[in-house]
Amino acid sequence: MDSRAHTVVVGGGCLGVAAAISIRRRLNQQGNNEKVILVEKAILGSGLSSRHSGIVRAANAEPAAAQLAMIASKMWLDLKNSWGVDLKNEQFGAVWIARADAAGDNPKWRSLQEKLHNTGVPFNRISLDEARDICPPNVILNQNEVFYHEPDALQIDPSHFRAAAYDAVSFNDVEIREKTDVVGFIRNESGQIDSVITDNGIIPTRYVVNALGPWSPRLFASLGLQVPVSAESVTVVNWLTSRNHEQFKMPIIADYVNLAYFRLWRDGEIHMHQPRKRGPKETARAFAESPLSVMGADFVNDPTNQALGYSQIKQFEDIARRRFNDVDKTVYGSGYRSYFDITPDLKFILGPDHRLTNLIHCLGAGQSFKYAPVFGEIMADFVTGGQAFAPIAQEFSIERFDQSYMSTFWAQVAGSENSLAVGDTNL
Ligand SMILES: Cc1cc2nc3c(=O)[nH]c(=O)nc-3n(C[C@H](O)[C@H](O)[C@H](O)COP(=O)(O)OP(=O)(O)OC[C@H]3O[C@@H](n4cnc5c(N)ncnc54)[C@H](O)[C@@H]3O)c2cc1C
Repeated sequence: MDSRAHTVVVGGGCLGVAAAISIRRRLNQQGNNEKVILVEKAILGSGLSSRHSGIVRAANAEPAAAQLAMIASKMWLDLKNSWGVDLKNEQFGAVWIARADAAGDNPKWRSLQEKLHNTGVPFNRISLDEARDICPPNVILNQNEVFYHEPDALQIDPSHFRAAAYDAVSFNDVEIREKTDVVGFIRNESGQIDSVITDNGIIPTRYVVNALGPWSPRLFASLGLQVPVSAESVTVVNWLTSRNHEQFKMPIIADYVNLAYFRLWRDGEIHMHQPRKRGPKETARAFAESPLSVMGADFVNDPTNQALGYSQIKQFEDIARRRFNDVDKTVYGSGYRSYFDITPDLKFILGPDHRLTNLIHCLGAGQSFKYAPVFGEIMADFVTGGQAFAPIAQEFSIERFDQSYMSTFWAQVAGSENSLAVGDTNL
């Protein structure tokens, strides 16, 4: 009997989990009971997926990304249908805030609204009074700002997601190998991947899905493949609030004046982190420093990242004070430095590798928790010949990095840093 797996998914972060579940369910629908094996060197939901904020929103200047985010949002709302398990969510929407010009407008954001409307994402300019009605009273909103409302944005508690991931992997009969390190690959005579080598044995397989996030460059270098993913640092701070004073219906506040996202979570904390930087220089620096070549992304779990220094906390307090009128009456709860996964053009890498076609990449670009269920379906399409979602993913093929695309890229993204400039991707 052939013990070959149908697919081995390497990496058990949110994208690996989603890929394994969707592939298993798709094979079931086709009456195919070949194995789907998920290999994770630590535990499910580790890596960058242990640090996300659980925000699911579709506003994205890149139409294909916005379209995928909308599909994913619907799937998150009904995970029972997609994964067979329940997952709680809160749908309090998001309020986006940016600076207004002298005329009370912000042309970049107006044009973003038009783009999003073309994609079907509800994202509407609202007045200061309307924003005040939507936000709790401790949120400071100013005359010289513009406000947009994304009513469908969701919030998920990351610990609930992790529990649902374990439940769904088990419910769908994905074979899971935690605490198992993938150390290399064996190729067959036609150059395709024949087997995955782990520190717990060799797994022959027809397909490999790469969900290693920023660990990809180190592992795939062994096959002579460059996979351009790096990591950019981000700081997180949680403020403890009083249960008597906070209403637990605060929308996500995407504050592009002070460069911070805020949400309420864990029964009484204001959680905040910076948005991903968009400046070509920062992106280039993350690749130039190339920290991944030596230790993979293992620095993500380095203990020195677990605590913030006084000046970092103070800096975040200053930012929070500009948006909340009672931060001085909250308590610093916890804070840490973490990392966003980034690609050179800040777009995902999805689909078969043109150099090794039974290797399928499933890599996000800094905001991929929210896309996880739809990326899973895209992976299922690619390994079963389906067409439901794969066509939307075409522009995210890794092949683009071989073309002149990258040489003209830096000129094209000449938008200002951390802005919502049209042409920026993955807001
Ligand atoms: C502070 C912060 C807030 C964020 N907030 C949001 C948000 O609100 N919404 C959103 O959509 N996104 C958010 N993100 C981004 C999101 O966390 C990441 O994009 C996402 O988690 C990436 O998932 P992944 O599965 O691709 O990678 P990872 O989670 O990094 O998974 C890769 C996995 O591969 C495993 N691995 C590595 N090497 C090996 C090996 N050799 N063998 C086997 N396994 C291996 C690792 O242990 C890891 O579990 C946030 C990120 C941060 C840091």
